[in-house]
Amino acid sequence: MGMDLPPLTPSTLYLVATPIGNLEDITLRALRTLRECDVVAAEDTRRTGQLLKHFGISKPMVSYFQFNEAKRSEEILERLQRGEKVALVTDAGSPGISDPGERVVRAARVAGLRVESVPGPCALVAGLTASGLPTDEFHFIGFLPHKSGQRRRQLEALKQFAGTLVLYESPYRVEKLLTELTEIVPDRQVVLARELTKKFEEYVAGTPAQLLEVVKKRHLKGEFVVLVQGFTAEAA
Ligand code: SAM
Repeated sequence: MGMDLPPLTPSTLYLVATPIGNLEDITLRALRTLRECDVVAAEDTRRTGQLLKHFGISKPMVSYFQFNEAKRSEEILERLQRGEKVALVTDAGSPGISDPGERVVRAARVAGLRVESVPGPCALVAGLTASGLPTDEFHFIGFLPHKSGQRRRQLEALKQFAGTLVLYESPYRVEKLLTELTEIVPDRQVVLARELTKKFEEYVAGTPAQLLEVVKKRHLKGEFVVLVQGFTAEAA
């Protein structure tokens, strides 16, 4: 393209977003960052290995996952302090959004190191923007806790929030969530944004009770972003 691309900056942690399904969603900058960095810190080296292979990139990897995030953060920091360029990627989407990353970013910032986002796919943005619900104000919850009491309390506490609520949910708990919404916000419009960017992408909208029926009847599986109409939108 004739663009004069500057080289990556030494001692920088790059947060590289990767596709949430459709491999065409990788950005040119993500590819270049993965190609030119010294090491890729991956949530799962096997999965990231497949991604790199798909794009013809071979690069040393270190595993970086939730259960050893503290120890791995230190290692990553040491590499950055030695001048290395580190690309952090998770299994899908944007690092740090319901995914590891937060801890090492904070540690790097505290140490005065440079951190840059290489933005790209993120399920919450993809789902919210195409849902038809208001996007001007929203609250991202991520995954609710597993325990019923805690889930309920969190949903109750957000019931009066004016904007759209955005949740991530595993396919195994979507029915549970819809049952809870049936009790807590029965009259709201809810949108299930399913399998975003993939072959069976779809948006199913309705009240919690209507969606519960659909999910049961169709045995809906896959990955979900769940969007719940806000309090004021309901009043209107
Ligand atoms: N960091 C990721 C991001 O930027 O979206 C999210 C990672 S989180 C561990 C995984 C959850 O994100 C899934 O359980 C689902 O709720 C949501 N998600 C990821 N990919 C999705 C997709 N293609 N369609 C719908 N939801 C998706």
